[in-house]
Amino acid sequence: MNLDQPLYIYEKDQVPLPLPSDQTLVDENPDYFASSIYGPAEPPSLQSYVQIPVSTAFHANAIPPPNTLFLSSDGVSFHVRNETILESSPRHLKHISRQQIIRLDAPSAELNIILHALYGTSAAAYSPDTNILVNAIDRMPTYGILPQSVIWPLTHLYYLLLSHAPICPLKIYALAAHHNISALAISASAHLLSYDLTTITDDMAERIGAIYLKKLLTLHIERNRSLKQILLRPPHPHPPTNECSFTNQDRLTRTWALVSAHFVWDVQPDITDVPERLSCGICLEVLEDKIKDTVVQWASVKRTI
Ligand SMILES: [Zn+2]
Repeated sequence: MNLDQPLYIYEKDQVPLPLPSDQTLVDENPDYFASSIYGPAEPPSLQSYVQIPVSTAFHANAIPPPNTLFLSSDGVSFHVRNETILESSPRHLKHISRQQIIRLDAPSAELNIILHALYGTSAAAYSPDTNILVNAIDRMPTYGILPQSVIWPLTHLYYLLLSHAPICPLKIYALAAHHNISALAISASAHLLSYDLTTITDDMAERIGAIYLKKLLTLHIERNRSLKQILLRPPHPHPPTNECSFTNQDRLTRTWALVSAHFVWDVQPDITDVPERLSCGICLEVLEDKIKDTVVQWASVKRTI
């Protein structure tokens, strides 16, 4: 059989013929799916095949040769090697992977993510959206897979999730928190610094859980406290000159209060609107230095849980 051009394999976006009910056929005729996929010894007409779309990543001629067939809920077949699955998930999938043909309730897009995770390969080429990733990972425990065991720094799935953090930071943080994937939660929290925590829904708070919710709240509170401490220190006055006495330098303090307000509202302080208020060149220099110093101090404040 030429596996490079299997006539009976559909592309994913084509509508497959309805599949028979699983258990009956699997139990009564265990070779049914296998013969449909691999073809019988005597090639029949094309119409006699049950046409099953096959995963482009987990196909029949993979190396090492697959020996187990997963069928997704939307009827896509995934050819996998039992030993590889058990290697990544030794305790789990064991009870079902004794069979050769296994129908799972996960849609193909999610099953694809799960199998790539178990194989340690990247699913990035499929550009799954955040919801598919989240659903796939939420589904893992139902198959006995601990998300922590397949998502950790250096794994492809970890980096794929991380790439979604700037777009959907709360979803990724909640996912990490829910499954106690600490490293991912820490990285995702850096994208939640300007997030309005009061908009977190009850459901989301429940999913995040008390511990990680507290970590996030603490991060925000501590950063707020640090910002206040940094801003509360006004610039040091310069030695008095003929043009600018200590009294005149009250303006510098007031101007600093104005610049501080810009910081608090996450606005880049704009030194260009200051000269009208500060006529002394030395005061301006002091102010500029103070702003630079403040930016540096603010950048060094903890940014993750
Ligand atoms: Zn001055």
